[in-house]
Amino acid sequence: MSDDLSDLYQQVILDHCKHPRNFHELAGHHRSAEGHNPLCGDQLKLFLTMNGDRIQDISFVGSGCCISKASASLLTEAAKGKTRAEVERMFEAVHQMVTTGQAAGEVGKLAVFAGVHKFPARVKCAILAWHAIMSALKGDTQPVSTETEDM
Ligand code: ZN
Repeated sequence: MSDDLSDLYQQVILDHCKHPRNFHELAGHHRSAEGHNPLCGDQLKLFLTMNGDRIQDISFVGSGCCISKASASLLTEAAKGKTRAEVERMFEAVHQMVTTGQAAGEVGKLAVFAGVHKFPARVKCAILAWHAIMSALKGDTQPVSTETEDM
């Protein structure tokens, strides 16, 4: 990766960190899930409204480091309008990308997190929102913690 590209990626992450998209509670949501990353102190809560199997609208609230907020912000943009199966495929692709640097599938704008694999402590920050959305889609009621992830 060239320095220019990593600068661009950092700008996208900083922008979403400072101005997170869909950063509010969602009135009348059908599903929600909380995620904690005790290692870093990241906490977030996702809200979803569903239309059948498709995510109609999605938002989040929470606090944490720049990586976790930017990841949640980009996730809400990427997941809106997607089906559960499509989000599951994105989760697999993003998870592989942040742990190995290589995406297993189409990740779109989420490619900005490819560099995270070089910083193992930040991988959990980047993947936290993804665990939360998987939990919300499954209907789990327990908060997810990155501490239970086997990495
Ligand atoms: Zn973090």
